Amino acid sequence: MIQLLPDHIANQIAAGEVVQRPASALKELLENAIDAGATSLTVILADAGRTLLQVVDNGCGMSSADARMAFERHATSKIRQMDDLNAITTFGFRGEALASIAAVSEVVLKTRREKDELGTQVVISASEVTAQEPVACNAGTSIAVRNLFFNVPARRKFLKSDNVELRNLVIEMQRVALCHPEVAFTMQHNGATLYNLPSSNLRQRIVALMGKDINQRLITVQVDTSVVRISGFIGKPESAKRTASEQFFFVNNRFFKSPYFQKAFTNAYQQLLPERLYPAFFIFFDLPPDKIDVNIHPAKIEVKFEEEQIIFQMLYAAVREALGKFAVVPSIDFNMEGAPAIPAMRKGAPVTLPSLHIDPSFNPFDEKGKQKSTPGAFSGSVLSGWEKLYEGLPPSKQFEDIPEEKMPEQLSVERFAPEPAPCLVKGKYILTPVKSGWMIIDRRRARQRILYERFLQNLWRNLEETQQEIFPQTVTLPPADYVLLESVLEDLAHTGYDIRPFGNNTVVVNGQPASFPPMDAAQLLEELLHALHENTADLKTQRQEKLARSLSKAAAGTAAEPLNMPEAQALVDNLFACKEPSLSPEGKPTLQIITVEEIDKRFLK
Ligand code: ADP
Ligand code: MG
Repeated sequence: MIQLLPDHIANQIAAGEVVQRPASALKELLENAIDAGATSLTVILADAGRTLLQVVDNGCGMSSADARMAFERHATSKIRQMDDLNAITTFGFRGEALASIAAVSEVVLKTRREKDELGTQVVISASEVTAQEPVACNAGTSIAVRNLFFNVPARRKFLKSDNVELRNLVIEMQRVALCHPEVAFTMQHNGATLYNLPSSNLRQRIVALMGKDINQRLITVQVDTSVVRISGFIGKPESAKRTASEQFFFVNNRFFKSPYFQKAFTNAYQQLLPERLYPAFFIFFDLPPDKIDVNIHPAKIEVKFEEEQIIFQMLYAAVREALGKFAVVPSIDFNMEGAPAIPAMRKGAPVTLPSLHIDPSFNPFDEKGKQKSTPGAFSGSVLSGWEKLYEGLPPSKQFEDIPEEKMPEQLSVERFAPEPAPCLVKGKYILTPVKSGWMIIDRRRARQRILYERFLQNLWRNLEETQQEIFPQTVTLPPADYVLLESVLEDLAHTGYDIRPFGNNTVVVNGQPASFPPMDAAQLLEELLHALHENTADLKTQRQEKLARSLSKAAAGTAAEPLNMPEAQALVDNLFACKEPSLSPEGKPTLQIITVEEIDKRFLK
């Protein structure tokens, strides 16, 4: 027997699509406020939106009849007939957001039109209207959503940590704030003001949201064609980030995601950027609304373009042109940068001789001293004349002191007793012959593994010595990042990193672990935050492990730094001194072996 679902159940099902987390509710409320013509918006949050998520606007407000209607499913003032769907200029049009939100929370709506003397208050809990009465209130609308998912425990369980949810809320706010710079925004979380954005132009808005550093990194993009108008800003290549957090596409003032158009950027910045770096962009497409379909995604963040390919070409051309104007295009081949001139190994060629590294402060009884003078970590300096001492010695003698016990049993890589010199491919891979064939080591992952085990060992034991900075650097972070960093500052103090709060979303980096090269403070924090964001999702991971993993990722740096051969050798040795040399902290392989059989097979053809 088929039955129609009662409304409250239908709403809750719809809510599953529309409201997945506090951020999706915020998106809907913000968009409604903009659709209502608001020029000033306040967002009030408590506990990352779990307990309270309120948007107050000064828009057109609603009559008391509409205030009640707004929560009905498919109730909208924005479209009336099928044709309207082809000419949408508002954010909303489906009329299901408020109904969905009210199905999974407790909502208090207060609204008044300018012309009305009294406003209306509607109280709804899990789709049920519990009160509707006249109320004295400001013109405009205030919607307070409390205890989101109180009646959907499964959803509640899927919420991530407050840091992650807050970050998502901030991202939603950014998306709306960027396409409406003329609207003033305020955002408060647990009583603290995260953002206070005055009405401004686009450039000022970008700077207010992303930090003032971005100002001199922006390049204007502007193209007008009969098909589309493309405008906005792109970032200079040198300011590219490790995350896509500064990448925004808007079409007719609506944020959308597009891996396809993103590819135009990848192409345009090719050779200007090392791998895994994302250029900033804030790109606005304007075209007639009937040339796009915004109704293909439940949360409306994907959009279908009728003339996708043409627009792709135009975007690519516009970006190239903008980059060209600012003379950043001449092709710099980043790939070459990390590749030192290591000659390919030829049969019969003499093995490069190591220079001796003498550490006068070396004390064999001092644990720390031992760590420093890693066997095999030859200093790269040129010691003229020393080489002669080795002449005539069989090659094995030169490498004798690489201890065999460093080979982990679980890994069946039999390395040669006399270590042939490794070579470096594109600065990324270290290639070294082993008995069964060739071993290829991913440099970055290997470094991560080494640092990870070291951080795990040293964390919470204050074993890392801190090198204090002579000129401590302060870094101002976006509020959400600051909140996240703050939550690990105490733990960080035990790792050799001395980073402290400095007030106003600013931290000061006073010191870094003495045992590895110091990083630029801003870059260090960016990498660390990036890793923390990725890792916070996994609630089960132990705190300690999580931080060790994030730190190792941050400190492993990008593969672009040059590496000389002794350093490559040291890296190989240190990797094999690890408990788990074959996997990165994330469980990805650090090395691959190409066996002689595989090589044989290739020559069979
Ligand atoms: P949609 O935005 O798709 O129309 P919603 O469920 O989000 O659907 O909202 C339903 C209706 O409630 C809107 O069409 C609008 O008329 C009214 N409404 C919602 N929020 C506001 C607001 N902040 N100010 C004025 N009217 C609003
Ligand atoms: Mg809406």
